[in-house]
Amino acid sequence: MPEQDRVIAFYDERVLAHRPDPDAPFLPGRMDKRVRELLAGLAVPWKYPEHPGRLTAIMEMLASEPVSGLRIESGKAATREQLGRVHTTSYLDDIFALRGTNSWLDVDTTAVSEGSVEAAEVAAGTAITAVEAVVHQRCESSFALIRPPGHHAEPARARGFCLFNNVAVAAAHAQAVLGCNRVMILDWDAHHGNGTQDIFWSDPDVLFCDIHRASPFYPGSGRLEDTGAGRGEGTTVNIPVPAGTGDIAYLKALREIVEPAAEWFKPDLILVSAGFDAHWYDLALNVSHEGFAAMTGFLQRLARRHCDARLAFVLEGGYNLSSLSQGVHSVLRVLAGEVPPEPGVCGVKEVEEAVAFHRDAFMPPEEDS
Ligand SMILES: [Zn+2]
Repeated sequence: MPEQDRVIAFYDERVLAHRPDPDAPFLPGRMDKRVRELLAGLAVPWKYPEHPGRLTAIMEMLASEPVSGLRIESGKAATREQLGRVHTTSYLDDIFALRGTNSWLDVDTTAVSEGSVEAAEVAAGTAITAVEAVVHQRCESSFALIRPPGHHAEPARARGFCLFNNVAVAAAHAQAVLGCNRVMILDWDAHHGNGTQDIFWSDPDVLFCDIHRASPFYPGSGRLEDTGAGRGEGTTVNIPVPAGTGDIAYLKALREIVEPAAEWFKPDLILVSAGFDAHWYDLALNVSHEGFAAMTGFLQRLARRHCDARLAFVLEGGYNLSSLSQGVHSVLRVLAGEVPPEPGVCGVKEVEEAVAFHRDAFMPPEEDS
């Protein structure tokens, strides 16, 4: 067997060409007036938060603080056949017709610019490349650093900054071409992966586990009781959590729900919809960089136990550039071999330091002997 890399990150500059313009016209026109009024009513002009600076921030961080043992390679565009495994023909026709245009697709904050369709094809294709690398044993684990994100995209609808469901395209490719019969997807993005859930809702061979901030937080789906249907009954596992949920609760969910689910399902491959908007800088949940690192270590052990360590990460959300780039960095360090720290409850370590600092300040003066 050729020598195996520890971890490969895949990045292709074509994903930067997706630059939606909030002033672009709407499709269909009737949405235009309503959303225009909404945007005009905001105190601060609305900017499209899912922008190319997200990826350049990650790549700049990897250049300034290289991760030892990490190799970076380029990606590729997905074919229509690969996208068609999870999206409808009419949806693909509609999206491909937008090539070279600036348009809003719907009220649900999704728009395209001239380079967006190619960027979305490259995002999905690069997720496939990342999966191929682990299945072909070129590396133990991989990370597709891509945008636009994918987990809100449904079979026939773009939603929440997502055009094609990258992780679903990669999972379907693994099943159809790479001999992976059973694929497990863990989605730790702050938002529920409604699109991924929809796509595999009745598929018994894809186990979809999702920890997310509970409804009415966007997109509002992902109830505990939603467990799949038909032959897929039981292979959708939702773990909705309240605002402020942090590392300890996330790790408890992994150990007490995701681990036994994996034990039961016996995956051939584990994919991660890795969104970094669960970090507290994005104001939805309270996960730290140590938390992302610890979750990565957990998944690495799970993948080693069940599927020859085959573990591929696919980037989803994360809009604060600092927590996004540091979060990706902390995941890659663990994939490259660093032992993750055991996260504590936020602030306890600092209070312990403060206790030590102030310990003698309020003691009664020592008696003269
Ligand atoms: Zn998100």
